[in-house]
Amino acid sequence: MALMLYLCVMNTPESILKEVFGYDEFRPKQREIIDHILAKRDGLVLMPTGGGKSVCFQIPGLLFDGLTLVVSPLISLMKDQVEALRANGISAAFYNSSLGAKEESDVRELVETKKLKFLYVSPERLIGGGIPWLKDEDVSFVAVDEAHCVSMWGHDFRPEYTQLKLLRERWSNCPFVAFTATADKVTRKDIVEQLALRRPKTFVSSFDRKNLSLKVRPQMPQKDKIREMVSFINRRPHQSGIVYCLSRKETEALADKLQAAGIDAEAYHAGFSANVRSQVQEDFINDKTQVVCATIAFGMGIDKSNVRWVMHYNMPKNIEGYYQEIGRAGRDGLPSDTVLYFSMKDIVMLSKFIDDSGQKELNRTKLDRMLQYAEATTCRRRVLLSYFGEYLKEDCGNCDICDHPPVSFDGTQLAQMALSASIRTNEKVGTNMLVNILRGSANSEVLAHEYDKIKTYGVGKMVSFRDWKHYIVQLLNHGLFELAYDDGFSLKVTAAAKAVLQGKKAVQLTKVPEEVSSEKPVKVRSAREQEQSPDDLLFDRLRTLRRKLATAAKIPPYQVFNDATLRDMVMIKPTTFERFLDVSGVGEYKANKYAHDFLAEIGGFQKNKKKASDTFKKTLELFSKGLSPKQIALDRDLQVTTIYSHLASLYVDGRLNSLEGLIEEESIHLVRAVLPKVEEKKKLKPFYEALNEQVPYHEIRLALAYLEKSGELENVS
Ligand code: ADP
Ligand code: ZN
Repeated sequence: MALMLYLCVMNTPESILKEVFGYDEFRPKQREIIDHILAKRDGLVLMPTGGGKSVCFQIPGLLFDGLTLVVSPLISLMKDQVEALRANGISAAFYNSSLGAKEESDVRELVETKKLKFLYVSPERLIGGGIPWLKDEDVSFVAVDEAHCVSMWGHDFRPEYTQLKLLRERWSNCPFVAFTATADKVTRKDIVEQLALRRPKTFVSSFDRKNLSLKVRPQMPQKDKIREMVSFINRRPHQSGIVYCLSRKETEALADKLQAAGIDAEAYHAGFSANVRSQVQEDFINDKTQVVCATIAFGMGIDKSNVRWVMHYNMPKNIEGYYQEIGRAGRDGLPSDTVLYFSMKDIVMLSKFIDDSGQKELNRTKLDRMLQYAEATTCRRRVLLSYFGEYLKEDCGNCDICDHPPVSFDGTQLAQMALSASIRTNEKVGTNMLVNILRGSANSEVLAHEYDKIKTYGVGKMVSFRDWKHYIVQLLNHGLFELAYDDGFSLKVTAAAKAVLQGKKAVQLTKVPEEVSSEKPVKVRSAREQEQSPDDLLFDRLRTLRRKLATAAKIPPYQVFNDATLRDMVMIKPTTFERFLDVSGVGEYKANKYAHDFLAEIGGFQKNKKKASDTFKKTLELFSKGLSPKQIALDRDLQVTTIYSHLASLYVDGRLNSLEGLIEEESIHLVRAVLPKVEEKKKLKPFYEALNEQVPYHEIRLALAYLEKSGELENVS
C-alpha cells in the first residue's frame, strides 16, 4: 500500500481549501462547521448528498496535530473516500475486516510514526475489541459519517451500535461530529443519543439540490416510455445514468431493451452473485458501462460524482427514497436530469407491498404523499422540499411544472361520469375496467360482466384511455376515489364525492401534458461529431485523457478530476502551470501530478483550432476573389458542405459581410418559422426534419448563421 504524507505547511481553512482541494470559496455552512470543530465542540451536520460534507471534517482533520478517526458504517464508501484523499496527496487509510495482516501492520506503523492523518474505521471494529494498538492520545478528532446508519431508524442499524456511547467516554477530549444526509427529526435525535454527543450544535443546510432538474411523466404506454428513454439517453452520449426499477425482473428486461437499442446498459439487483454485482458497479464507476438498470439496492455504496441523470422506471415507495435516489445524480454540482415515470399499475403493485409490510398506515400515507408529488400542479421542488420542512420563496424554474405550467379546467362533469360509473358497478372495478366502461369498450371482460348495459357505458368516449387514467389519479388525489387495497384494488367512491355527484361541488382537473417535443426520437450518433461545439470536443478529449490516467492509476475517472473541474478547465483553457491552478478543483498535489498531461492536451487542441482558423481564412480569400462555394471546394479538395460551414462561421464572426447570393430570403423565412418548434438549435438535423427535408443542410446552416447574427436565435427559447 503506497501511502503519502501530506506536509501541512499552510494553516488556515481557506488556504487548505484552495491548495489541497483547489476550491476558491466555501459553500454555505462549511466554514461555520469547520470553526465549530476547530473549537473542539460536538456537532451534528445535516447536508444533502453532494452538499460537501467531506471537506467539513477533512479540513479540521488536517489542521489538528493528531489523527482523525472517520467512523463509517459503509465499507464500500471507505475505500472510495480514502482514495479520494490520497488523490489529493493526503495520507489516509482504512482499517476493516478486508485488510490482510501485512496491510494491517503497515497502517499501524503509519499511525505509530504519526504519518497518518485520516483513519477510516467501521463502528463494528471500534466496538468489538477495538484497535488494540491505537493509543487514546493519538486521536484528535472523531467524525462519524453516514451517521443515520447508527440510528435505530436507519436500515443498516445493528444492535451493537448501542455500544457506541462508550467511544465518547474513551476519547473524552476530542470533538465528536456526526454527518448525515438524512434529515428527519427522529433520526437526528436518535443519532445524538446513540453517540452520546455532548451539547452538540446542529447544522442544517438547505436540502435543495438546484442542479437537479425534476420531471414527471405519468401514464405512458410501455412502448412510448422505452422510445422516450432511448432518445433521452442517445442525446446524452457518454453520460452516466441510473434507471431505478421496482422489480429484479424488470431491471433485466429493461437492460435488454436498451441494449437492443444500441445502448451500453447493464442490470443490477441483489439476486446476482456478489461477483457480478461488483463487476457491474466497477464498470459503472469507471465509465465503462454508461447505464445501469437497477433496483434501489444500487448506489448506496458509491460516491461517483459524475452521474449525469437518474430515471425512475416506476413510482418509488416514498419521497425519502425518491429524493435519495435522484440525489445520486450531479454530486459535482453540474446540471443533471431526473425523470420519474409512473402508472396506475405501479401504485397497485406498491400498495400490495404495503399490505404485506409491518407499518401499513404509515407506508400508505407515505405513498399518498409520493402520489401528490407526482401529480403536483405547482412547482415540484416546492412540493418536494416542503416534505422536508423547507419552504422555497420562489418557484424553481428547473422542473417540468415551471417549464410548462399545467392548464386546469372544470372537470366536474368528467368526475361525475367516473364516479357514477363506479357506483353502477357496485364499486367493484379497478381503473382499467372503469376506463373501458367509460369509453364504451367492447372487450370480453366488459361484456362478461354486462357492464355494457349500465347507463354510463360509453359516455366518456371523447377522452383517450391515457387521459382518463390520468384524471382518475387526480380524482384519487382529490380524495373522491379511494383504492380498496383489500378488495382487488377496486375504486371506491368516498363520502366527499357525494357533493360532486349532486352537483354541489366543482372539481378542477389539469390537462394531461402533451409529449414534450424534445423527447421525439432522433438518430444522432453518426452526425454527432460534426455538430459538436469546439468546447464539447475539448471536453470529450479531456474526458478521454482522464479515463486513460485513471485506468493507469487504478482509480475511478472522477477521482482524477470531476466533471465540474473538466468543465472549468474547458472554460479557462489554461496554458501554463499557474493558470492550471486556477481551475476549480485543482489543488497543488493534483496540479503537480496532472498538469503536464492536461496542458499538453489543451495545447494540442488549441493548435488544431488555429489550423482551423487558417482554413477559414483561405476560404474567405477565395470567396472574395469571386469563386463559388463549389469552385472553392474543388480548389481546396474539400466537401462543399464544409465550405458553406466556413462561410457561415465567417459571417457570424463578422469577417464576411453578407450572405447575398448564397441563400434565398425564402429559406431564411422557412427556418425562422420552425425555430420555436426545434428544441436542439445547435444541430442541423432537427431543423432538416422539422422542415420535412425540404431545405438542404447547407442552406439551413447559412440561415442559422443569419438568425444567430441578427439575434433572433437567442430570442426564442
Ligand atoms: P457529500 O459527502 O456531502 O455527499 P462531498 O463531500 O462528496 O459531498 O462533496 C461533493 C462535491 O462537492 C465533491 O466533488 C467536492 O469536491 C465538491 N465540493 C465540496 N466543497 C466544495 C466547495 N467549497 N467548492 C466547490 N466544490 C466543493
Ligand atoms: Zn419548479
